[in-house]
Amino acid sequence: MLAKSFQPCRLPPQAEALRHEIRDFLDTALADYPRADRAYSWMGFDATFTRQLAARGWIGMTWPKRYGGGEQSAFARYVLVEELLAAGAPVLAHWTADRQSGPLLLNYGTESQKMRFLPPICRGESYFCIGMSEPDSGSDLAATRTRGTRVDGGWRVDGTKLWTTNAHRCHYMIALVRTSAGSERQQGLSQLIIDLKAPGVTVRPIMDLAGEAHFNEVVFDNAFVPDDQLIGAEGNGWQQVMSELAYERSGPERYLSSVALLSELLRVAGRLPGSQVEAAVGRMVAHIVVLRQMSLSIAGKLENQENPVIEAACVKDLGTEFEQLMPELAHALLDLQPTLQAAGDYERVLAYVTQVAPSFSLRGGTREIIRGIIARGLGLR
Ligand SMILES: Cc1cc2nc3c(=O)[nH]c(=O)nc-3n(C[C@H](O)[C@H](O)[C@H](O)COP(=O)(O)OP(=O)(O)OC[C@H]3O[C@@H](n4cnc5c(N)ncnc54)[C@H](O)[C@@H]3O)c2cc1C
Repeated sequence: MLAKSFQPCRLPPQAEALRHEIRDFLDTALADYPRADRAYSWMGFDATFTRQLAARGWIGMTWPKRYGGGEQSAFARYVLVEELLAAGAPVLAHWTADRQSGPLLLNYGTESQKMRFLPPICRGESYFCIGMSEPDSGSDLAATRTRGTRVDGGWRVDGTKLWTTNAHRCHYMIALVRTSAGSERQQGLSQLIIDLKAPGVTVRPIMDLAGEAHFNEVVFDNAFVPDDQLIGAEGNGWQQVMSELAYERSGPERYLSSVALLSELLRVAGRLPGSQVEAAVGRMVAHIVVLRQMSLSIAGKLENQENPVIEAACVKDLGTEFEQLMPELAHALLDLQPTLQAAGDYERVLAYVTQVAPSFSLRGGTREIIRGIIARGLGLR
């Protein structure tokens, strides 16, 4: 059944034609960007880079022109994302808005929300984050407790979101909130656009294992959200969030987020033991080629307005496994303990990827949950 779901898909020539233009742009824009920092992948933040990309029309590039978009195909965006990841470009500022907040607003937002929120995203001026997880609600998202209480003109929001990537630099969070008092599980949830600078919102960065503050705790204490910042229908939050996850789980970032390690490995291959390097590089490339085909096939489905949730879960799971294998393969070639302070880029990239790799099977949904989705989709549970 799954084999049929992954139909071969080739990038159309118009999309491929963009690749050289993007590479030329990146060569110039990233000329001074340190090689070791490229290991941050989409966690690298640079507001200037985001604005440069926007000036080329490469944020919201598939969205309608009336909202600032470029009306290009999902395949053109696929090529762009591949090149950004391969270069290790610092894309975090606009990443979430471009990948899923904008498409969510296009699907469910009102006309006035689209006119208000999408053009600033396309100009690289407005950043969004995802407010799903909470202290007791990660895998079990239906246990969401943050509540929105109806008041005159909107909602008062109280509760805590956790692990919110980039919230400390974002303008808005799209939060999953319980707007129906006494409702349970998937019922009574809604999505609100919350202004992170509003009174009653506190954003506290959390240090990760690598010593970086990428994600946050966000506390809402009686924070006011106006009526016109509800996305879609009140109570439809669960369905909307589920449709958003296919965008989050299927892109090339699910297998290219640590590709800087492969690039650095190739650069130093000459000083590592020959046949072992060949075997390690061979395994990595073989994985990437297969994962790319699977991911491309999903891009084809998204282009056809399908919602390939199970296929996206497969790419996420296999991509995660591969990305956690990469540092293991690389370690086997080195007779030293790599550190973030090492002199060589290869050693620093390896140290960084090793430290963040455990999080790959947590972010975007844990391995067990993803495998449950696949099993249910195949009728096995
Ligand atoms: C780098 C990073 C960035 C993140 N960014 C964001 C973000 O921007 N926005 C956001 O909302 N969230 C974000 N998250 C949170 C992420 O989605 C959650 O960590 C994830 O969903 C797991 O939730 P949890 O941490 O509460 O763990 P838990 O749900 O408590 O899971 C703990 C363990 O129990 C297992 N488990 C749980 N339930 C089951 C089950 N039913 N069957 C089998 N095993 C189970 C899990 O697989 C896991 O191994 C981020 C996480 C990371 C690591």
